Amino acid sequence: MNPNPNATTPVSGILERCHILARSIQAHPRVKLGHLPTPLEPMDRLSEALGGPRIWVKRDDCTGLASGGNKTRKLEFLIADALEKKADTIVTQGATQSNHVRQSVAAAAKFGLKSHVLLEDRTGFPDAEYKDGGNVLLDRFFGAVIEHLPGGTDMNAAMEARAEDLRKTGASPYIIPGGGSNPVGALGYVDCARELFEQAAAEGLDIDLIIHATGSSGTQAGLVAGLAALEVDTPLLGIGVRAPQETQEQMVYNLACKTMDYLGMGHEIRREAVSADCRFVGQGYGLPTAGMWDALKMLAELEGLLFDPVYSGKGLDGMISLVREGAFSDMKNIVFIHTGGSVGLFGYRAHMEGIF
Ligand SMILES: *Cc1c(COP(=O)(O)O)cnc(C)c1O
Repeated sequence: MNPNPNATTPVSGILERCHILARSIQAHPRVKLGHLPTPLEPMDRLSEALGGPRIWVKRDDCTGLASGGNKTRKLEFLIADALEKKADTIVTQGATQSNHVRQSVAAAAKFGLKSHVLLEDRTGFPDAEYKDGGNVLLDRFFGAVIEHLPGGTDMNAAMEARAEDLRKTGASPYIIPGGGSNPVGALGYVDCARELFEQAAAEGLDIDLIIHATGSSGTQAGLVAGLAALEVDTPLLGIGVRAPQETQEQMVYNLACKTMDYLGMGHEIRREAVSADCRFVGQGYGLPTAGMWDALKMLAELEGLLFDPVYSGKGLDGMISLVREGAFSDMKNIVFIHTGGSVGLFGYRAHMEGIF
């Protein structure tokens, strides 16, 4: 029994805060795209092999749209915003093998919107599978107009220019930023934080750490804002796939603050709540590392799960390395958010030498 009559039990406290957060999220326009809630499953063979805390996987690879992934949650809010603004075409951008672009063009198709996408060659890989297979093949299925641009192009300026061209033809374009990472899109991960803590409460699970791959920052920023709104201090760690730590953390922090403003709940975002480990990037964005391939093989063989070479695989490499270093030795339960992307494996076939 709790001796303080004014205190609620921890579980009813968190559920109450989940409901309050859900109401604030519901005040924003949203369409239905995802198969939600996604499952939360233990990975016991992996946990046993590593000998650390019990590791759970939040299956955001199973969001349902066009083979799934984390962009689907963001697109529920972004597409609703596009429809509210009477757009008839979306313009977005990403790397050649972008999972964000694949999910965006599928979402656009479902709501009768056309899509123009700009793909930046960030790796310089010359092979046909990379340039035209995997995600790019699916972009074609969804009817996107695709433009390939060289690495280093100012992609935001290119999107603005493309939108201006479209306006001149009488179209009404809506620009979705790279990765869907703005306050509108990040609301999807505010809601994921709520969903995860409702699931954990139902399972009686105390989460000691949440970990996931971080890139354009909307996923982590949404989670940071969601955790602040839920008033939980569960640590959250992003594993970087592109930028150095300071840049990545600042990007996440800035977007988390803007997302909290957009959400309208007024909780403070603490800079210390934003933490990224960017030691697992390797030579650069989209360039495979040996640790990433080892992690992908390990999860396939131990858990029957597929991850991707650009994001979730590097995220896993980070998590596995940190568990092995003993960084989480005082923890019982950690949750890895599987952000999807296994379609990208088919775009990386030429870069798997020696892994089988
Ligand atoms: C986009 C993406 C991420 C990173 O999410 P951000 O919100 O861009 O930080 C992680 N994993 C996969 C598979 C992705 O496609």
